Amino acid sequence: MRQEPRANIYRDAWAGELRADRCGTEVRVAGWVHRRRDHGGLIFIDLRDRSGIVQLVIHPQASGDAFALAEDLRPEHVVSAEGEIVKRAEQNVNPNLATGDIEIHVRSLQRLATSETPPFPIDEDVDVDENIRLKHRMLDLRRQRMQEALLLRDTVIRTMRQTLAERDFVDVETPILTRSTPEGARDFLVPSRLQPGSWYALPQSPQLFKQLLMMSGYERYYQIARCFRDEDLRADRQPEFTQLDLEMGFVEEDDVLEVTEAVMHAVFQTTGFPLPPPPWPRMSYHEAMLRFGSDRPDRRFGLELSDVSDELRGSEFRVFESVLGGGGAVRALNAGAREMSRSELDGLNDVVRRHGGKAVAYAFVENGAWRSPIAKFFSAEQQAAVIDALGGSDGDLLLFVADEPRTAAEALGALRLELGRRFGLIPEGTHDVLWVVDFPMFEPAEGGHWGAVHHPFTAPKGSFEDPGAMLSRGYDLVVDGWELGGGSIRINTPEVQREVFKVIGLGEEEADRRFGFLLDALKYGAPPHGGIAMGIDRVVALVGARESIREVIAFPKTASGGDPMTGAPAPVDDDQLRELGVRVVAPPASG
Ligand code: ASP
Repeated sequence: MRQEPRANIYRDAWAGELRADRCGTEVRVAGWVHRRRDHGGLIFIDLRDRSGIVQLVIHPQASGDAFALAEDLRPEHVVSAEGEIVKRAEQNVNPNLATGDIEIHVRSLQRLATSETPPFPIDEDVDVDENIRLKHRMLDLRRQRMQEALLLRDTVIRTMRQTLAERDFVDVETPILTRSTPEGARDFLVPSRLQPGSWYALPQSPQLFKQLLMMSGYERYYQIARCFRDEDLRADRQPEFTQLDLEMGFVEEDDVLEVTEAVMHAVFQTTGFPLPPPPWPRMSYHEAMLRFGSDRPDRRFGLELSDVSDELRGSEFRVFESVLGGGGAVRALNAGAREMSRSELDGLNDVVRRHGGKAVAYAFVENGAWRSPIAKFFSAEQQAAVIDALGGSDGDLLLFVADEPRTAAEALGALRLELGRRFGLIPEGTHDVLWVVDFPMFEPAEGGHWGAVHHPFTAPKGSFEDPGAMLSRGYDLVVDGWELGGGSIRINTPEVQREVFKVIGLGEEEADRRFGFLLDALKYGAPPHGGIAMGIDRVVALVGARESIREVIAFPKTASGGDPMTGAPAPVDDDQLRELGVRVVAPPASG
């Protein structure tokens, strides 16, 4: 039960908290006209404040002047009302409303503001075009679903803070105007007026600052941190988003994982999200790729991948042979007994292509052999061996992707998810959590260089002689196929940090210019340290069962990075540009 409001001229109680035990007493409530009904002389108003809804009854005689005003009220007008709390007659009780067995017989009524007719109804959960919702977000946020989402978000963040405070973490703010912090995305830049020609970058994460805080002896840091990444947007991406960012000194992987499990378990428990208590299982990146074709495997359904390269080697099928000869792999999965037409099967190629693959081959199991356009290229033994490896039985559909091993895995992994969705293979209400560990440290990047798979401050395992074989001390938390967060144990010596910079193609000079402050700090007694960041928007969308993170952010951007309400981003005055020493080369798009 929330605390009573301080009585003032507008209210002395929350509308949604009134119950039958207060019948016979006077009350003053304030809020918005949620709905208004005229019933044979009586006017009924559902009054809404943040706590809920209560019914006002306005009587032509007993309510005096209030009646004339009530006749004039419309949805979303703002009112304050005084009257007596009265028990409703048995037949008028509304079991769907917390306050449904009482009503307020109004004696006086005051209108505090009028409202134009809103562009969409506030009192119903109807589908409204998202652009219209975002343009009028202040109204959209009045709707019950949005109120629930933002209160849920508050609960999630509060739980995180509480759990960390109990464990001695300190909340430290880090700068928003800073230098580039590489997390693999493009930076948002802010021109400096005082130093024309110089630019701040908005932080992609507080990564380097939190590491410096460990070197400064804070040992346990956290922050509800805003991060900025200029990326092409997808359903679960925003140009600015919020992380629970934390870092710990004198720790190994197990320490960070244990704290993260405690925080997330508390979040899942308070929000009623059904996941087993920690410790949560761990799976290596290698195994995740091999079995699920993804580094964030959704294990809630089967259709696991297998490598059938050995079974198929030496066939007459030139496509597979040339892939296998070039060091590639053939990955396959048994989709089970599925009815799929030729055109549906062909349609699967689109999924594979979207994920870098070339094509998918298929075969139906029939009497221990394949029925497939490519069956003729394989011996009976090869067909039987593959059926055996995939546990196939009559009627099963087998799917194959041949490519460079990682592409084959990822393309087939995407296909697996598509089939899971299409055939409804994820049982309603089931959830799964796991850690993915032992990521590769480096991956091939453009220009023949290596790139860091996590970020270049992650501690590596293995020898720099063979960067491609090195693993990292990174970890990701995955729930239902979503990466909820990730982090790592960090490098804590300047030598190793320089080595990593070298591998990713950062010369000494550039490393000094961009990260001199870090390399410097590492010289003055840097403890072993590590941390993690959890995507709060994703966590809230997950526990609130929302389709998109835009549903759990008060003022999000559209898919093209705009805010239809404020009109951001927008051109600025020439004067402003001149002051900043900035000239726009590309004219802003009109409109
Ligand atoms: N800074 C990393 C990120 O935003 C998380 C971490 O390594 O703690 O992904």
